[in-house]
Formats: sequence, C-alpha cells, structure tokens
Amino acid sequence: MIRWNADQRALREGLARWSDDLSAGHIDQDEEGTFSFDKWRMIQKTGILSLPFDEQYGGLDQSLLTTMYVLEGLGEGCRDGGLNFSVTTSLASTGVPLQAFGSTALKEAYLPRIASGEAIGAHAITEAEGGSDAMQMRTRAERDGDGFVLTGSKTFVSNGPVADVVVVYARTHPQGGALGVTAFLLDRDTPGITVGRPMKKMGLRTSPLSELYLDEVRVPATRVIGRVGGGFLVLDHVMKREILYSFIVNVGEMQHRLDRCIEYAKTRMSFGKPIGSYQSVANKIVDTKIRLETARKWLYDTAQRLEEGENVTVDMAISKLLTSESNLATSLAAVQVFGGHGYMSEYGLEKDVRNAVAGTIYSGSNEIQYNRIASMLGLGK
Ligand SMILES: Cc1cc2nc3c(=O)[nH]c(=O)nc-3n(C[C@H](O)[C@H](O)[C@H](O)COP(=O)(O)OP(=O)(O)OC[C@H]3O[C@@H](n4cnc5c(N)ncnc54)[C@H](O)[C@@H]3O)c2cc1C
Repeated sequence: MIRWNADQRALREGLARWSDDLSAGHIDQDEEGTFSFDKWRMIQKTGILSLPFDEQYGGLDQSLLTTMYVLEGLGEGCRDGGLNFSVTTSLASTGVPLQAFGSTALKEAYLPRIASGEAIGAHAITEAEGGSDAMQMRTRAERDGDGFVLTGSKTFVSNGPVADVVVVYARTHPQGGALGVTAFLLDRDTPGITVGRPMKKMGLRTSPLSELYLDEVRVPATRVIGRVGGGFLVLDHVMKREILYSFIVNVGEMQHRLDRCIEYAKTRMSFGKPIGSYQSVANKIVDTKIRLETARKWLYDTAQRLEEGENVTVDMAISKLLTSESNLATSLAAVQVFGGHGYMSEYGLEKDVRNAVAGTIYSGSNEIQYNRIASMLGLGK
C-alpha cells in the first residue's frame, strides 16, 4: 500500500478547500447542461491543471502517482462530475502529449497556457463511422510544401465547444495502417475549423462535447506532435494517462458515495431500526467498499508499474474495466440505499448513474478492453 507523504497530503488538502465552491449548483447545472467558466477559473486557481508538467513550462513537476492522488481528491470533494471530466480531459488530451513528445518550440508556446488552464484542451480521434476501430480513421493530412492540409470530421470531442487547443489525429499515409496516423496540435480558431453545437447527452452534462469539422485546414509541420506517422504511439501514451486520471477521479467519487451511504444507512429508520442493520442494505454498502478498494489498488498499482517501465497493457484494461463497472454498480446501489429519495434528482445520486455509464464507453469501450485481455490470453486469434 502506498503511504502518501506530507507534501502529497498538503497538495490534496489544499484542493479540498475548494470543494464546496466547485460543487455549488451542480444539480441545476447538470439539468441545464451548461459548462461553468466561473468554476473553470476556480479550477485554474487550485493549480490542479499544472500538476504533472515541467516547472520550466509553469508546471508543478509532480509524479504520475501524486497527480492521481490529488485527482482522487477532486473526485471525492467535487460533486460536479462533468467538471471533473473536463479537467482530466484537458490534462490528458493536450498537455500530456506535448510534455512527452512536443518540440521545445511547441512546449514553450502552449504548455504554460495549458498548465495554467488559460487554454482548455481537447482531443479529436473518433469519427462518425466508428470510434473503436480508430485505425479506420478517414480524416487526412496531406503534405503541402512545408506543411499539411487537414480535411475530415470528428465527433464526440469532449471540451470541443469550449476548447482553445485541440490535438487532432489524422491520416498522413492512406495505406500506412498504424504508422499512417499523425497527431497535430491546432488552435481552435485556425481557418477551416468549425466546431459543432454542443451535443445533448445522457450524463456528464456540464462537460460539453461536440463535432469538429476540418475543411482544408493548413498547418505548418511544426504543429506535429512527435513524428509524422507516430500518432498511434502518442495516442497510446495519452490513453494510458487518460484512463489513470479520469478513473482515479471515479474512485474519489465512489469514496464520497460510500461515506454518504453509510451515514444514511445509520440514520434512516425503517420498522424501528436503522436500514443499515438489515443485511440486504448493508451488503450493498459492503460491496461498494470492496469495489472501491479494489479499483483504487488496481489503478495505483498499474500506474506504479507503468512508471517503472513495465508493460501494463492487460493491467490497464483490467483497471479501466473494473473501475468503470464498479462506478456504475455503486452508483446504482446508492440510489437503492436511498430508496425513493435516491431516485429524485435533488439528491444528486441519479446523476451519478448517468455519468457512470459514460465510463464504460470512453477511453476504449469495455468490450474493447475485454478483447485486449482475451488477446493477451491467446484467445480470439
Ligand atoms: C462521454 C464521452 C466522451 C468522449 N470523449 C471523446 C473525446 O474527447 N475524443 C474522442 O475522440 N472521442 C471521445 N469519445 C468517443 C469514444 O471514444 C467512442 O464513443 C468509443 O471509442 C466507441 O466508439 P463508437 O461510439 O464509435 O462505437 P462503435 O465503435 O461503433 O461501437 C459500438 C458498440 O460495438 C462495440 N464494439 C465495437 N467493436 C467491437 C469489437 N471489435 N468487439 C466487441 N465489441 C465491439 C463497442 O464496444 C460498442 O458497444 C467520447 C465518448 C463518450 C461517450
């Protein structure tokens, strides 16, 4: 088990002071489906967006594990799950690939703004014809002198409607397979880019999402992140961090859910006794505890081994599957523990169920994670 030191705890406690303000109005904002720029400015002040980035670019130079530990605190303290998702999306989509693969010039120009939250980040991989099979992406980037011209369309771009910078993955070699895709860092206001209207969705409603259209978008080659043809290498690096960042937030959310259920089960009376004294209620809470602790262990263990350079392909798939399914199961359990009150929007619990469903789809759907594990077991050949 990891023992967090005083500095790490101080970072997390510093963030906890913002919990009430970040959570304020979350049920109404979910109903309206609005992104709050006021809350984003608070997020900027917390410094959370700068955690994993180099000091020379305005970052706090914190390790992957420390960043996750603070993000777990965000999930525990902030009830606005959509806002939390926008935070992890901005962190993982643009700052992470820039830090690992960006040229010095790109880092100097963009990382300070991304690390401070002045620039909101997004990434565009999925296309309408199919997201799981990203190799089939059709958006193309054709050589044009010393630059590229990008044409195509993307969908389900989280933060799309509010993003300032977007990492777009496009095909630079028609027949290149995995080596035919390249990552580009684009300003949202580059001529030829159109951002679609926010798409209505089941959950995570305070995190806006849209389509993105690229109509002969001309960019210099200096916009390439990593190498031409190295897009899937960049994406693999990004997806691992996206899973660790966004699902450790879910662990924090599960911790809050557990505490809330325990409190309620001890005080809500039925047939003259607290409902927690009935085994069928207590078991739901015990299951929540088991799922939460298991997910937490898997995520931190996977992150630790990733940092040590191990191949964590299967562990990452297990961690993602386990945490997203646990988040969904425990959010449903909480509604049941709270009975009719749990079903009412004003308790803020039904929203968690809608939010949790998204986690079974994004960052590689759970079916794709099953495939990955099966394939590593030598199945499905
Ligand atoms: C809330 C949310 C946020 C998102 N944010 C972003 C973002 O910021 N940027 C971005 O680019 N994308 C984003 N996505 C898109 C997401 O990555 C895709 O939805 C996902 O990859 C699935 O692709 P698809 O929707 O096209 O489904 P499809 O690929 O069409 O799959 C449909 C169904 O078939 C299953 N399936 C497909 N292939 C197989 C197979 N080989 N074996 C078994 N089952 C299979 C899938 O699991 C799914 O159940 C987001 C999605 C959601 C829901």
